[in-house]
Order: sequence, then structure tokens, then C-alpha cells
Amino acid sequence: MLMQDKFGYVTGVANHRSIAWSIARALDREGCRLALGYLGEREKQEIDKLVVDLKQTPLLVSCDVTKDESVQEAFAVLGREFGRLDCVVHAIAFARREDLDGRYTDTSRDGYHLALDVSAFSLNCLARGAEPLMGAGGGIVALTYLGSERAMANYNVMGVAKAALESGIRYLASELGPKAIRVNGLSAGPLRTLAARGIKDFSAMHKMHAARSALKRNTEMEEVADTALFLCSHLSRGITGEVIYVDGGYRIMGM
Ligand code: NAP
Repeated sequence: MLMQDKFGYVTGVANHRSIAWSIARALDREGCRLALGYLGEREKQEIDKLVVDLKQTPLLVSCDVTKDESVQEAFAVLGREFGRLDCVVHAIAFARREDLDGRYTDTSRDGYHLALDVSAFSLNCLARGAEPLMGAGGGIVALTYLGSERAMANYNVMGVAKAALESGIRYLASELGPKAIRVNGLSAGPLRTLAARGIKDFSAMHKMHAARSALKRNTEMEEVADTALFLCSHLSRGITGEVIYVDGGYRIMGM
């Protein structure tokens, strides 16, 4: 029970395939009292069906990270209901389909702003909201991908957003470190989720990952969830500002 008597906010649960859902289950398994973030009524209905599998009924807290009032309201609810937070999981990303399918060179100004706003600036919003509730310190974990440092086919503006997210992780970690708030990234190998469906030729990417990774297989959801749990828990108390790769050793391989 690594997270007994701890309070966590997990964003980005869209359905049972979401990485955030696996992380929520791992935190719940270890005794964490959870709040789950959702975007709209459709997502809330989806989450309502899922939560029956958790040990403790979570609080459902709506949050649209593109709207300051929505983020403020979410953290006001968390403050009222929990009074504190020990961990926050950022598992949010969005880019327009045309900005993923086409050439990065042709990304529109609007598409660029939208992708960076939802996928990178949103971490600032969550960290700022969580800071006053993390008086006893805490762990913030953001999901990222290798497309931040390599030009991956069809990842385009999302790669640029992930680069901004990872840089943001380091700045937030340096500023919040004196308050014992740790901020880390978890870079996962390709996983079949709703967001992944938006990436053209994702299946080919998935196949190539298994063939080229050191472990010669694909990344599993539970491996990502357990690492997120580790980064949220006191077991990782000496780690901040890092990006941890849960990719079966794909990144370390040469050609
Ligand atoms: P997912 O289930 O589709 O989750 C993405 C989430 O982002 C959804 O819950 C989505 O909500 C939410 N979101 C989008 N716009 C939002 C907004 N304005 N406010 C609040 N939430 C918003 O896909 P996933 O693959 O688990 O993605 C989770 C994270 O893991 C993302 O950061 C992704 O880049 C990262 N990641 C994924 C992979 C992979 O291969 N799947 C690999 C590495 C990293 P709605 O569905 O309601 O729009």
C-alpha cells in the first residue's frame, strides 16, 4: 500500500484504453484516494462505467485545460474535497488530424497554438493549481514520447509540443523543488489508445518498435502504470526534472 493516505489527481482518462486509466488503477491498488479529471459529459459517462472496478470510489472533477476558469474550478473542488494533493498525473495531448498527417512545415499557426496549449502549457496550469495543495510535497508526472527529440514520421507538431512539455518539466522541477514538489516525465513506447489512433500509420510504428527495441517486444500498459506509480510515490523521492523511458529499450538502440 505505497499510496495509503495519499490523494491524487489523474487527468486524461478518456476510456478503458487510456494510459491514465491504467495509472489510476495502479494508484488505487496502492491505496491512493483518487480524483479523475474529465473533459465533457460524454467522457464522464465513460468514466462512470469504469470506476466500479476501483477499490475506492473516485471523485470526478471536470477540467478543460484550455480554460483558466475550468482549471481554477477543478483545483477549488480538489481543495474543498481533499484539502491536499500528493500526486498529479498529466496525461493530456491533442493536435488536429491535419497537423499530424501533413508536413510539419505546413503546420498552421492555429494548429501549432492549439497543440502546444493543450499538450504542453497545460502542465503549467496543473502544476500551478496543485502547488498550494502540495504543502507536504508531492509528485507530478507527465506522459511524453520520443518524438520530442527525434523527428518521427507523422508525429509532427506533437513532437514539438512534447519537447516543450519536457523542457517545462525541468523548469517546473527547479522552481518547485524547494517545496519538495517533484516534476518528472514518463516517455512511453507506442500504446494502442484513442490518441494513438490519430497518428497515421500507428500500426507500422507499433510493429517497428517491437522489432527494434532491446526487449524485442512492445511496451505494456501496466509497465507504464507501475513506473508512474513509482514516480508519484516516496520511492522516487530523490528524482526530479527527469524523463524516464518506459520503452523496452527502444531509445538506446543503434540501427
Ligand atoms: P487518450 O486515452 O486519448 O488520452 C488523451 C487524453 O487527453 C484524453 O482523455 C483527452 O480527453 C484529453 N484531453 C484532450 N484535450 C483536453 C483538454 N482540452 N482538457 C483536458 N483533457 C484533454 O490517449 P493516451 O495515449 O492515453 O494519451 C495520454 C498521454 O500519453 C498523452 O499525453 C499522450 O501524448 C501520451 N503518450 C501516449 C503514447 C501512446 O502511444 N498512446 C505514447 C507516449 C505518450 P478527450 O478524450 O475527452 O478529448
